[in-house]
Amino acid sequence: MTHGIVMLTTGGPEVLQWSEISLPRLKRNEVRVRHTVVGVNYIDVYDRTGLYSRPLPSGLGREAAGVVEEVGSGVTSVVVGERVAYVLASPGSYAEVRHVPAEKLVKLPASITDEQGAAMMLKGLTAQYLLRRTSKVRKGDQILVHAAAGGVGLLLCQWASALGAEVIGVVSSDAKAALARADGAHEVIVTPREDLVSRVRELTRGKGVSIVYDAVGKDTFFQSLDCLRRLGVMVSYGNASGPVTPFSVSELAKRGSLFVTRPSLFDYIASRAELNRASRELFDIVERGVVKIQIGQRYALSNAAQAHRDLEARVTTGQTVLTL
Ligand code: NDP
Repeated sequence: MTHGIVMLTTGGPEVLQWSEISLPRLKRNEVRVRHTVVGVNYIDVYDRTGLYSRPLPSGLGREAAGVVEEVGSGVTSVVVGERVAYVLASPGSYAEVRHVPAEKLVKLPASITDEQGAAMMLKGLTAQYLLRRTSKVRKGDQILVHAAAGGVGLLLCQWASALGAEVIGVVSSDAKAALARADGAHEVIVTPREDLVSRVRELTRGKGVSIVYDAVGKDTFFQSLDCLRRLGVMVSYGNASGPVTPFSVSELAKRGSLFVTRPSLFDYIASRAELNRASRELFDIVERGVVKIQIGQRYALSNAAQAHRDLEARVTTGQTVLTL
């Protein structure tokens, strides 16, 4: 018997109940991980509200770090006592213990703490694929990053600026603007006080940016298209304000033959080789101090509901973790 967050129904943060969980027997190729720190992501809100629908009752949470407690038959990649972290497509990490397929575990280097590991698997691997694979960011590119002081946002600002891009961040307050600037954003637009599209045009001498990273979704999608230059790339990778309204593809032609993609991390780390490559690159950039994993707030695992309230109220910055 162990403990974790269980949802019997979808809804507000109050549906997150701290409960007893009985674990099934460990299957072949599975590893029992005792969590030390659990990562909180906006995707957990979509799972909780039912925007991303799941069979109920359900656990919640996609990433964590911890220690290998037991290995199932067939597992040779890790041994009991090793420090590991993971990101999984299925929810269930808001728990003391979880059974994880061995092929999804990544060993944590000694220089990376459990807290960093838990905070960076989902968001860090997302920043990695967004900047290095979805659209390769190059020196001199002007790019726009929405929610620039958020979990993924601060990582995008740091990493893109290290790649030589000129980063324009978008945030909702002056305090968040200061954080984004400190983490590499060259310019920051505070909305709704400033008009997004006209400020971007001003900052890019009328041309527009070459890439927009927009995970706000519904509220910003069309403004983001208006911020792009000819042949620009719209990376719509989330929906914190709600899903994007369906639109006609002729909107893309009208604005200069734009490209739009709606990527998901799990397609970029589907194979073990991809997961290895991406996590090696992420760990390397963190170990060299180019990208810092900053924990903005910590909550007890049993108090995950409060983490959700704060995330949805837009009061969190950087990474959010649950401690055990
Ligand atoms: P954040 O820490 O960025 O929190 C969300 C931020 O979005 C808020 O702080 C807020 O910043 C901004 N926001 C704008 N409008 C709203 C709104 N109506 N309600 C709430 N927040 C709003 O979260 P994460 O770093 O965990 O995730 C960021 C986004 O990236 C999410 O949309 C998530 O789904 C997406 N994502 C997508 C992945 C993929 O592979 N497709 C993988 C990982 C994350 P501000 O106040 O400055 O506007």
